[in-house]
Amino acid sequence: MARITIRVEPRRGDNSPCSHAVKPSGKPRNPQSGCPGRTQFTVVCSEHGDVGDPHHVRVLAEPAALAHRQEHRAALAAR
Ligand SMILES: [Zn+2]
Ligand SMILES: [Zn+2]
Repeated sequence: MARITIRVEPRRGDNSPCSHAVKPSGKPRNPQSGCPGRTQFTVVCSEHGDVGDPHHVRVLAEPAALAHRQEHRAALAAR
């Protein structure tokens, strides 16, 4: 069985992934990157893709990622 990975992915306003280094304000450290800054965080599961709605702050996305991970664990245990 493939290992399932669940992570929190920063996204920009147009929902594209942002992997730039950012300041605590969410703006990119390098102004030349052309990045408008990340505005949301989405939980991404290797099996389900995007999980639920995007979160505006990482501290809300992390418990959602944890909850999804526990759902997988429960599903495996039920077999
Ligand atoms: Zn970016
Ligand atoms: Zn999943």
